Amino acid sequence: MDARKHLVLLGAGHAHVEVLRDLARDPVAGLRITVMSRERFSPYSGMLPGVIAGHYAAAEALIDAPALAARAGASFVQDSAVAIDLARRVVRGGDGAEITYDLLSIDIGATPALDAEGAATHAIPVKPIDALLTRFAGVAAAQSYAVVGGGPAGFEIALALRARHGEAQITLAAGLLGLLPGLPEGARRRAMAALARHEVALSEGHPVTEVEAGALHFAGRPTVAAEALLWCTGAGAPGVLASSGLPCDAEGFVHVQAGLDVPGHLEIFAAGDAASFLPRRLPKAGLYAVRQGPVLAANLRRAVAGEPPLPFHPQRHALLLLSTGDGHAIGTRNGFVVEGRWVWRWKDRIDRAFMRRYSAA
Ligand SMILES: Cc1cc2nc3c(=O)[nH]c(=O)nc-3n(C[C@H](O)[C@H](O)[C@H](O)COP(=O)(O)OP(=O)(O)OC[C@H]3O[C@@H](n4cnc5c(N)ncnc54)[C@H](O)[C@@H]3O)c2cc1C
Repeated sequence: MDARKHLVLLGAGHAHVEVLRDLARDPVAGLRITVMSRERFSPYSGMLPGVIAGHYAAAEALIDAPALAARAGASFVQDSAVAIDLARRVVRGGDGAEITYDLLSIDIGATPALDAEGAATHAIPVKPIDALLTRFAGVAAAQSYAVVGGGPAGFEIALALRARHGEAQITLAAGLLGLLPGLPEGARRRAMAALARHEVALSEGHPVTEVEAGALHFAGRPTVAAEALLWCTGAGAPGVLASSGLPCDAEGFVHVQAGLDVPGHLEIFAAGDAASFLPRRLPKAGLYAVRQGPVLAANLRRAVAGEPPLPFHPQRHALLLLSTGDGHAIGTRNGFVVEGRWVWRWKDRIDRAFMRRYSAA
């Protein structure tokens, strides 16, 4: 029988890849580690629109999770957790296999809510991203595309489609919330100008009510043709969190305190989109998962040593860089807005540096 403590990392998301890098650099004596994740390759979402636009090969935006786990001395199990038995401290995978943990960390992201009639059948959800890339390849010859969701992902993907398909009809359906809600007016204006320049039709104020093969129906505006439909709406919670009895917010994301620890469960931590940060509501954005990575790594070490966690201090003003698919980008932080080719080069440098951290070289 292995007497070492067992750390189970559930999901190889943006925070956990940093935990693995940290553990590879400085192993913890007496700790056994297992990573269970649904996919072998963890996509870096910041570069995904660039993959669709043709700026990057898919492999450039994918982190090889088993290889990273191996460098940290961890076992990798490709499976989707369907239940966490909190009393027995067991994670159950889809194939029925059970993994017992002493310490559990959850970074399983969020899933798009396919909430219009027919969407589950006809739309391609933006997550899981590996499935998106496969299904997207299957619709590469379409003449009309629609992207549902007016947030940063929907905006970038609509323009990435334009970069890839010069002649296709492209519609961005931004729904009741409209384009890039919450961003400064200057950023929204520039984003609208980019859509107009690239002849991407924008629909705002009309929710999508129904989806069928080849068409998108709205409340209060004409039907739009869409041979291929990409679904990039707000993030829904993975069902396994609430169904396992973890303390969750009203949407089903697991509560975490300042130290990314789950209240009432000293042995469970969570980060990224799956977590609902109690000290202050955080946007579901990869950059918070990335920033949480080093704090999570430190706190998992502290938990092994029986020490209390240190707090995560989220940035007040996050930098958002939006590619417009044409070698330019729009950047915004703390009310300031910039745009240009240099902004894209800046974003490209940040994204490539992120990926270099988790590659073998
Ligand atoms: C197209 C697109 C562009 C985006 N661009 C940006 C951007 O520029 N900047 C930004 O800040 N944010 C961006 N986002 C948002 C960003 O993708 C998410 O906020 C980010 O991925 C959250 O990271 P995470 O670690 O929480 O989860 P994820 O990156 O989603 O990782 C979750 C991991 O868990 C695994 N998993 C899922 N369910 C299970 C399960 N049940 N059991 C086991 N494993 C599981 C998955 O395989 C994956 O490895 C973008 C999103 C999209 C879709």
